[in-house]
Amino acid sequence: MSALPLEPPSIWTAAHEVSDRSDRSQQKELGASDTVCQRRAAYILAGTEPTDHHEKRAALLGTYAHDGLLTSARTEYGWQVERSVRDEGILGHVDAVQLDEATAARLPRPMRPKIPAPGPGVIVEDVKTKSVYLWDKVLRYGPTEAELRQAYLYAGALASVGFEDVPGQRYLARLGPLEIASIRFRFICRDNGDEHIHEIPYDPVRATHARWWVQGVRELATPERARRDFDGPGLDAVCDHCQYVTECWGVPAPGRTHQSALVHTDADRAQALEEYVAAHELEAAGKKAKKFARAKLDGAPAGIYGANELGWSGGNPTTEPDVEAMVDLYETEGLTVPMTPDDKRMIAVLKKAGLAVPQRASGKTTAVSINVKPVRS
Ligand code: SF4
Repeated sequence: MSALPLEPPSIWTAAHEVSDRSDRSQQKELGASDTVCQRRAAYILAGTEPTDHHEKRAALLGTYAHDGLLTSARTEYGWQVERSVRDEGILGHVDAVQLDEATAARLPRPMRPKIPAPGPGVIVEDVKTKSVYLWDKVLRYGPTEAELRQAYLYAGALASVGFEDVPGQRYLARLGPLEIASIRFRFICRDNGDEHIHEIPYDPVRATHARWWVQGVRELATPERARRDFDGPGLDAVCDHCQYVTECWGVPAPGRTHQSALVHTDADRAQALEEYVAAHELEAAGKKAKKFARAKLDGAPAGIYGANELGWSGGNPTTEPDVEAMVDLYETEGLTVPMTPDDKRMIAVLKKAGLAVPQRASGKTTAVSINVKPVRS
């Protein structure tokens, strides 16, 4: 009889291998999605070899969801998805472009959207998948600065050049520079599928700022001159998953933080201490303001007020062991009641005997906790 095979291989090994071979992973040029951190963008532009390779399961799940949703938007709505754009500063793939009727009329009929943008102008869409842990932040604050920059780089390239002139999108490239009406972020929760749309009118000034950001990185003599836009491993998830974390922060001395590498002299220590004190003052002021607001809300009914939803938890009646009932139970069950009062021992004996500990209302309630959430759209 042939032996059973060893453990079946993890499907994630295959998924990581496919991802590592993908065009996006092989791309050496600076992409719009690489403009999260100035230092990271500088490493990519300098052709620095990545020093760190991280687990990518969550990101891959996001990619799969992203691809499926965009394919549906293409087949069902006729939107242009995953189209490439390039200008003097950046290369990128726009998630979706919803053409308006006037622009679409310049394309062959089969390429026109079934659901056009209301117009005038096209809508540039960026789909972002997020975990449920970040969802409230998404609802409250919308896209991050880096996400806005990325979308403005795409939209700016479409406004100044149009679609890239490459096989597969020649007709689109012939449209030339497009009138952009708005940028639409479509956030999808990876855990439950919730969808949240955040749309903003296109602002050419912000597009210029995004281009300047890239230009600023290109002008740096070395990546080491670039700013670290995040606080480093252990403090910022972006750094925890960065492929240049060792190049950027080095290897810390045993037991030390990566950030300790930033402090060398007494002047550095004085500076860090000043930052610490300033941050402490901000924290104290924030706590004081929060306590005051909380006190004002005491007794307010749960509900939606403006941009926030107020809820309460706790405040429930509590119970405590009922000693008299325990004594009765001991007698009923033939257990020996201690001569001196000892609640803990009586409870332990009842539990050991598999008997429920009699309870009585304590007259107290659990602490009341406030719960504030952004209002869902
Ligand atoms: S480790 Fe953090 S600060 Fe350094 S390049 Fe990566 S993202 Fe930027």
